Amino acid sequence: MIGAVDIGGTKIAVGIVNAGGQVLTRSQVPTNADAGYRRAIDSVVQRLRHAEKVTNQKITGIGIGSTGPVYPLTGEIGDVNFFPNWKGENPVKDLERTFNVGVAIENDADAAALGESGWGAGRNKTRLIYVTVGTGIGVGLIFDGKVYRGVDYSHPEIGHHMIDPSGPSCYCGFSGCWESLATGPAMEAWMADNLPAGYPHRESLTAKKICDLARAGDNLAQRAVEREARYLGVGLANLVTLYVPDAIVLGGSVMKSSDLFLDTIHKTIAASCHFVPYERTQVALASLGEDANLIGAARVWYHKFAPSGGSYVD
Ligand SMILES: [Zn+2]
Repeated sequence: MIGAVDIGGTKIAVGIVNAGGQVLTRSQVPTNADAGYRRAIDSVVQRLRHAEKVTNQKITGIGIGSTGPVYPLTGEIGDVNFFPNWKGENPVKDLERTFNVGVAIENDADAAALGESGWGAGRNKTRLIYVTVGTGIGVGLIFDGKVYRGVDYSHPEIGHHMIDPSGPSCYCGFSGCWESLATGPAMEAWMADNLPAGYPHRESLTAKKICDLARAGDNLAQRAVEREARYLGVGLANLVTLYVPDAIVLGGSVMKSSDLFLDTIHKTIAASCHFVPYERTQVALASLGEDANLIGAARVWYHKFAPSGGSYVD
């Protein structure tokens, strides 16, 4: 029974996941970054204790997925946008001390990638790339069941690889990053910049709304969707050319409208990956649903402490 903790910018989800990858109980607390790390970790402990009580189970390990950067080797939180005053805090050591079990932490993209690799659409794939597209683009590379890391255990930032040097400026300081072109907010920004006078659907043009309008035949929304699909396709084609993985698994809120994007994604990969056997790379949708982050967090524990454990149950 693994305690799972998913630390996001606005909320922290906590649950217990069994050895088949099923979430037995879940709850969440606001991250409330300004109230300080100590208060947040105290609520996590409280929620985990409560989860033990309601399931009548004892936690035997804890896995954490967190918005990054985080340092899996030491367990420390790095310089995170959402909670800059938590830098240097160590949830791994704190939870180890409290629960007296093994605790592991990974960047949330790597955690979700591990979840799909262990219990989801990426099962039995030797070379797996997981891509989540929502307000940002997160990518996790799992080769032979292990998270690929850079120097000093760093997480490669594939969402910030350049797609178009003349593209919009990105908060990372560069321009034309994948994130600046192919996220939900990127789609929304393009719509806002291209709205003609008298456009009838000006209010709350979220990425989801744009997709709905495109399905209903709205011409401008269809152009926004086509642009989104093309930039997603270019980034994914780059990944195919660079890594030729067995599978790319796509998740995140924007991918709930994957029906609008997949055709162009496939065409873009086919047009740009001629020197590699791109037809052998399966493009699949994430299969773990709304609990993907918690399931991924649990899988973080397996990755460190029991790499061959936690078998999939149908
Ligand atoms: Zn960037």
